[in-house]
Amino acid sequence: MEGIDVVSEALADLHRRLLALDGGAVADYIPQLALADPDCFGLALVSLDGHRYRAGRCDEAFTLQSVTKPFVLALALAELGAEEVGRTVGAEPSGEAFNAISLDPVTGRPANPMINAGAIAVTALVPGGDPAERFARILDCLGRFAGRPLDVDEEVYRSEAETGDRNRALAHLMRGTGALRGDPAEAVETYFRQCAVRATVADLAVMAATLANGGVNPVTGEAVVPEPVAVAVLAVMATCGMYDAAGEWMLRVGLPAKSGVSGGLVAVSPARFGVAVHSPPLDSFGNPVRGVAALRELSERFGLHLMRNPAPGAPTVTRADTAEDGGTALVAAQGALDFTAAERVLFALGQQAPGPGGRVLLDLERVTAIDAAARAMLDRALTLLAERGHRVTVTGDALLRADAPGPLGRAGSRAGTRR
Ligand code: GLU
Repeated sequence: MEGIDVVSEALADLHRRLLALDGGAVADYIPQLALADPDCFGLALVSLDGHRYRAGRCDEAFTLQSVTKPFVLALALAELGAEEVGRTVGAEPSGEAFNAISLDPVTGRPANPMINAGAIAVTALVPGGDPAERFARILDCLGRFAGRPLDVDEEVYRSEAETGDRNRALAHLMRGTGALRGDPAEAVETYFRQCAVRATVADLAVMAATLANGGVNPVTGEAVVPEPVAVAVLAVMATCGMYDAAGEWMLRVGLPAKSGVSGGLVAVSPARFGVAVHSPPLDSFGNPVRGVAALRELSERFGLHLMRNPAPGAPTVTRADTAEDGGTALVAAQGALDFTAAERVLFALGQQAPGPGGRVLLDLERVTAIDAAARAMLDRALTLLAERGHRVTVTGDALLRADAPGPLGRAGSRAGTRR
């Protein structure tokens, strides 16, 4: 049915109004970036079902610059694990500009993987026999986040390579403090190539949505990085992603995000969608003026701030009573069980009082999903009930049984009874 796409309508409305926003300046310290059209403005949103929405100029490729940083951090975390990456780089908002000499005075370790010093060290961590192989892995990974192969803007790469003395200096300093692996010159060349990877706003929104979706690209279905890696990267983006305006961003927008000097911006509404904006003029912190304004409005309008109470879900417990003779307690639940829902089920069970040795019936017929925390909670409660001599019957636990090791998992039949 046509004409009911209110998401696109909201994006189009934002685009129309914010295009008029002037202010900010296009970055020019990399000469090639200064050629960007200040009126270029596109925004795109991709849901976890892979539904795509867009407004403005979304098909023009631009170099991602710092917006590559969270995705390369994800690659390093997936390849090496959090402990090893953590030995090289911290996860603290440094409160400093993107190109600051931001190294811990004692350890020499860069604090923030979302600005240049930390990001150069992370890039150098990506495994590879030589710089070409390392970069090939980075490019491949960025492409899997985007759902299509990406390439490098050679002119922007050369332009930065010819002028990037400050980043070279940072790499040498880190080599001196022991924070950087390998040859500083090679590390920086790989990092420059990474920054010059180009993609469109439409691609970037898919990349953001992949992080929102626990590392699974919602368009291609590919698991690009494991879920704990996506969660870790979102946490780093939330605290460190917006240069030295990260605190204000969290206050006003409340979403994990990352911006870059070419005017790109990704923001992630975890378990909801990814959004991307491109508009080259930057504010004094280096964040794109229209991108910041767009995300402030989107967050407000759609109630996306992370610290908001999520909308109350449907009730979990649909029935809780004890038979008149006091011998049997029945609790029925519905929907997806997480910590909150499992707490409701267990509280309801606790309110019922079957006599000593009485039966407990737990009806999970209408439960649609259960996460690891809820599974562990239910398992533990069922074990305790059985230890206290109750006969416990769980119905409808086929879904839960699939790979569960605990009492729920051990239920041998659809209605598993244990004593
Ligand atoms: N290639 C840029 C630099 O290192 C990226 C900076 C950024 O986007 O923050 O200077």
